Amino acid sequence: MATTTPYRIVIAGGGTAGWMAAAALIRFLGQGFAVTLVESDAIGTVGVGEATIPQIGMFNASLGIDEDAFVAATRASYKLAIEFVGWTRGGRYMHAFGDVGRDNGLLAFRHTWLRGMAEGVAAPLCAYALNNVAALGNRMQRGPTRTVRVLPEMPYAFHLDAGLYARFLRDYAEARGVVRHEGRIEAVTRNGADGDVAALHLDSDRRIEGDLFLDCTGFHARLIGEAMGVGYQDWSHWLPCDRALAVPSARARDFTPYTRATAHDAGWQWRIPLQHRTGNGIVYASRYLSDDEAAARLLAGLDEPALGDPRPIRFRTGRREQAWAGNVIALGLSSGFLEPLESTSIHMIQSAVERILKLLPGRRAPAPLRDSYNRQAAHESERIRDFLILHYWANDRDAPFWRERRETPVPHGLAEKIALWRETGEILREDGDLFSDVAWLQVLVGQGITARGHHPLADQPPRAQIAEYLDLLAKLNAREVAQMPPHSDFVRAHGAAD
Ligand code: FAD
Repeated sequence: MATTTPYRIVIAGGGTAGWMAAAALIRFLGQGFAVTLVESDAIGTVGVGEATIPQIGMFNASLGIDEDAFVAATRASYKLAIEFVGWTRGGRYMHAFGDVGRDNGLLAFRHTWLRGMAEGVAAPLCAYALNNVAALGNRMQRGPTRTVRVLPEMPYAFHLDAGLYARFLRDYAEARGVVRHEGRIEAVTRNGADGDVAALHLDSDRRIEGDLFLDCTGFHARLIGEAMGVGYQDWSHWLPCDRALAVPSARARDFTPYTRATAHDAGWQWRIPLQHRTGNGIVYASRYLSDDEAAARLLAGLDEPALGDPRPIRFRTGRREQAWAGNVIALGLSSGFLEPLESTSIHMIQSAVERILKLLPGRRAPAPLRDSYNRQAAHESERIRDFLILHYWANDRDAPFWRERRETPVPHGLAEKIALWRETGEILREDGDLFSDVAWLQVLVGQGITARGHHPLADQPPRAQIAEYLDLLAKLNAREVAQMPPHSDFVRAHGAAD
């Protein structure tokens, strides 16, 4: 860096987004950079966000965080899968992390399974997913599976207390030099020349200047929305849920290593077991369900006694037209919102932080850099959006909300994906897609969308050989899982808080 004055990065907001960004920036940028974070205790954070996907492990590892210490600090449990209950009439299925079955050279496992189904010799898909068998057996293991080398590793994520995670990262970031200011941002000044943000003004006459500003102010979008005037692309015609109520309940008796998402007449309800309590919430479309009805339904659906009153949260599904405008980059809820059906929001913060580090501008950001960032951010959220829409669109429920979901045309890319699967059993993962073909497979099959065809190579082995192979894979999974410790014992050994 040519100049000796530090490059000043100012993070507005100290929720999960703000502190994840602060921790990663201070870890990777080092000398020549000054990282400041402003947060308001009076405004507080959104206070939800408990289920994650496996990539969070890489984020923590990149910061050098010890996993057991993280699990203890955030009162976390392990997560192997999401169980979807009632998304098709009366049915349930799992979306498990990791592989399903075993590919045979070029031939993806799903084709062998489809042939097995056509021959009447295959078990339901979930029997071939190690994570699924472990999740339903309430078992957990970390690292490569030991006894059977042909089995894949078991990827896992966490259920965590997001407030405690932010606190944990705050300690990490402050210890390494991030400067925190407590106070409300009252005003934002912009340069006359280029319209970039020059400074944040706090309530007590403090002025914080910067070269680059990260907007982590949550739904307030104080910088990207209010100051920079960047618009919002509304996706609620595809994903019409616009409210949530969240309530903790007592520690789960059934301490499962998976999240549960149960569909109801106008949305769905989550259940997330943590070490010290269970996180619950209902997501619903206010056009179809009143707040009182939603609260009653949420409380009636709890497995354990509630530990408080349901807390309301309003949202609008969509994304910022540009995540990066001028010298402001939006992360977390200020950059957009997708309901937590596949636990993607914290991950999107992580991938935005990675993108910022890769594309970090000089003191003036060239337009092509911003454009490239914005294209990547838009692509990521649109692909996740399509995956969520699939859960809603492919339903056979009776209520008006669900009929409307079925009848609303889906985005073009999703329609193509469904058509390809139906005709050929093929699923293509494109560049920048978060979810793998195996993730799509489990949801397509789980939601009852059947494939008419499969790859011709899957027709080569005789029927008996296919049957034997499928039977062996299912038995190996069951045998492997039988040797794993129960989830609660595993937590006790790896990160219990007390
Ligand atoms: P917030 O937590 O709202 O933080 C905003 C920060 O900005 C706060 O520190 C606040 O004080 C500060 N601030 C705002 N205005 C000002 C101001 N004027 N001056 C100073 N400071 C200010 N994600 C998942 O990955 N998994 C889940 O299971 C999940 N569940 C969710 C359920 C619901 C109902 C919702 C709404 C979200 C869920 N999320 C989930 C998303 C997750 O909660 C958020 O992505 C995550 O918490 C990041 O929030 P944030 O930091 O952007 O905003």
